[in-house]
Amino acid sequence: MSWYRHWEGSFHVKHAVPERKGSWEKAIAIAVVNQKGGVGKTTTTISLAASLVEQGYRVLLIDADPQGNAGSGAGIERKDEQVTLYDVLVNEAEVQEAMVPTESGVIVLPSTMDLAAAEIELVSAMGREYRLRDALIPLLDEIDVILIDCPPSLGLLTINALCAADAVLIPVQAEYFALEGLGALQQNLSLVRRHLNAQLYTLGVVMTMVDTRTKLATAVEDDVRGYFGDMVFSARIPRTVRLAEAPSFAQPITVFDSPSRGAMAYRRLAAEVIERINLWKGQG
Ligand code: ADP
Ligand code: MG
Repeated sequence: MSWYRHWEGSFHVKHAVPERKGSWEKAIAIAVVNQKGGVGKTTTTISLAASLVEQGYRVLLIDADPQGNAGSGAGIERKDEQVTLYDVLVNEAEVQEAMVPTESGVIVLPSTMDLAAAEIELVSAMGREYRLRDALIPLLDEIDVILIDCPPSLGLLTINALCAADAVLIPVQAEYFALEGLGALQQNLSLVRRHLNAQLYTLGVVMTMVDTRTKLATAVEDDVRGYFGDMVFSARIPRTVRLAEAPSFAQPITVFDSPSRGAMAYRRLAAEVIERINLWKGQG
C-alpha cells in the first residue's frame, strides 16, 4: 500500500487523491533556488505546489530553509513532536515519518530553526551532500513532483537540495538589481554539475513581484530575458497584496483567493512547468 493511500482515509483533504498524471518514470525533484533573500522562492514553492495539486499531481514540498516559512505558509502547525527535515538529514529518520498532509493536498516535509545546526553538524558527516537525495529514494514512485524551497545561501542545505534535484527553478525579482548575483548562482550551479550532480537541469527562470504598471518592470524584464533568453517562463508573477497576505492565513494563494491574479499566474506557471518537464522527458 502506498503511503499516499495510507493517509487518504485518515485526514480531511479537500482534493481527492489524484490519479498519477505525470507519465514520466519517477518523481521529478525541483529545487527553487536563488541565494538572494526576498525574491519569492518560498511564495513560488508554496503556490506552485498547490497549483500542481489542483492540476492532479501528487506533490511533496520540502522546506529546506530553517526559517520554516514554506511549511507554515502551506498550512502546517508547529508541533513539538513533529519529525522534521533536520531529523531526516542528521538523525536518519525515515522521510515518511516527517511528511505532513495539508488542507490544499500538498504534502509538506517541514523544518524548524534547528535545521540551521544541520549545516554545521553535517560538515564532517559521511555522504553529507547526498543525505537528502538518499532519503527521498523511497518516495520516487509515490510522488510526481518534489519541490524544495532553498534557504538564501549556498551552504550545505542548498547543496543537499541541488544534489537531490533533477532540475532547478530560479525566481528572479523584477527590480533594478535583478541580475545581480545571478552570475554567482550560475557559477555555483556549474560547480555542482561538475562535481556533484552532472544531470542537474535548468527548468527555467520565473519573474516574480512584477509591477506591470511601471516602466521599470518592463525594462528589468527585458534585461532578464536578454540574459536568460527562452529560459524565462512566459508566466510572470504580479506583485499583489493577496500573495503577500496568504502566508499569514496559512493557505496557498490558490486556496486563500482562488480567482486572484496571483493564483492565476501560478496556475499558468504550473502548466508551463509541466509542459517543460514533458518536453525534457521526451513526452511533449
Ligand atoms: P524568499 O523565499 O526568496 O526569501 P518570499 O517568497 O519569502 O521570498 O518573499 C519575500 C516577501 O515578499 C514575503 O513577505 C512575501 O510574502 C512577499 N512576496 C513574495 N511574492 C510576492 C508577490 N508576487 N507579490 C507581493 N508580495 C510577494
Ligand atoms: Mg524563503
